[in-house]
Amino acid sequence: MNACILAVGSEMLTPFRVDTNSLIVTERLNQIGFDVRLKAVVADHVDELRRVVEGALAWADVIVITGGLGPTEDDITRDAVAAVLGVPLDVDEAIVDRIRTRFARRGMTMPEINRRQGMVPRGAVVLENANGTAPGLWVEHGQTAIVLLPGPPREMTPMLDAVICDRLASRAGTRCLFRRVLRITGRTESDVDAAAQPVYSTWATRSVPITTTILAALGQIELHLTAAAASKAEADAALDAATAEMQAVLGVSIYSTDGRPLEAVIGDMLRERHMTIAVAESCSGGLLASRLTDVPGSSAYVERGVVCYSNTSKTELVGVPPSLIDAHGAVSEPVAKAMAEGIRGRAGTDIGIGITGIAGPDGGTPEKPVGTVAIAVVVGDTVRVRTFPFIGPRDMVKFQSAQAAMNMLRLILLKSDAPFWPSKSRD
Ligand code: ATP
Ligand code: MG
Repeated sequence: MNACILAVGSEMLTPFRVDTNSLIVTERLNQIGFDVRLKAVVADHVDELRRVVEGALAWADVIVITGGLGPTEDDITRDAVAAVLGVPLDVDEAIVDRIRTRFARRGMTMPEINRRQGMVPRGAVVLENANGTAPGLWVEHGQTAIVLLPGPPREMTPMLDAVICDRLASRAGTRCLFRRVLRITGRTESDVDAAAQPVYSTWATRSVPITTTILAALGQIELHLTAAAASKAEADAALDAATAEMQAVLGVSIYSTDGRPLEAVIGDMLRERHMTIAVAESCSGGLLASRLTDVPGSSAYVERGVVCYSNTSKTELVGVPPSLIDAHGAVSEPVAKAMAEGIRGRAGTDIGIGITGIAGPDGGTPEKPVGTVAIAVVVGDTVRVRTFPFIGPRDMVKFQSAQAAMNMLRLILLKSDAPFWPSKSRD
């Protein structure tokens, strides 16, 4: 069963807005066995949308269109779909009444322009919108179902879920797609692929076939496993087995098998161990503290984080002796260690982390090029300090710094001797 997704809105054809609805729609359609073959962003232009829908009708079993159902002149989805079907738009007074009531509840009078949202291509089924004024619409043309949903994601998503259960699941194929995301750090993409390829290459021909995609960024690799199965239970069994096979070859470098980010994994580890953490950051500018505190409930283990960017602040805030900075430079293992120990001593936590480096693009030297970052992690009596040769632009150096610091902590807590990071880092 083939699907086409259209995001309507000229704003998404500028450099300032992206279509995210289609990602949610794709996920839900895949789960009930639709294969998304085409998605497109279409301008707020009746003829453009009409042409694209007409093209998709030739091959798609379902066309999901989001956006352009508002009350203004540039909201043209209803008009374009009516034109494709060759039917008139009728005003549905029941919809207009519901919109009028919605306004009245907020002590407002419905502007006349909102009557447009009550216009329905003749023969269409109205889909309720619990979170906004624009109703959705379901129409059929030959074998193809066309679903119109409003643009705002918080309105669109619950309506999509309802239409998936009610109307689309029964039209879908017998095999549905289910995904699992394995997240990996501390290895390069080519290293991961070399280890993983012999394993996943055998999956495509199994009774529940699994396809694998590698998505790699600096310091972060994801393996997306997609199983095609008749039921969720069957897919889960196949994905559990595949995950175990992958863990057997990639070991602790897989830090999560359910898509959770590293900071959430660290959070669980600290909570289980009843440990607390404080961090002192220079080149990462607070990103480590920010990521640690992205996790709900992190107040149970995050005591504090300080950004000590200047040399003076390293001394004032975490007690790094000026003589140490003079002797080794601010970007050095002794200073990283003094930062980790200093913040831990002041905060009274179990764990201290210090990060100091050169994020670039300026400030590099031949012995300490841009991307050189020293990280120290102190846990109990264990002190580990490493200098990493990160690559990429400033934001990526910051990301890798936070990522490597968390991975060092994770591997120390797991008492693992796996390398903290790939390649030339002195490990
Ligand atoms: P409304 O009644 O709110 O006008 P609508 O169906 O006309 O509903 P649009 O006007 O097209 O929706 O979009 C409203 C807002 O919804 C946009 O400003 C944008 O923030 C968001 N939006 C629309 N389409 C998308 C999309 N494909 N992905 C993400 N956000 C979207
Ligand atoms: Mg719009």
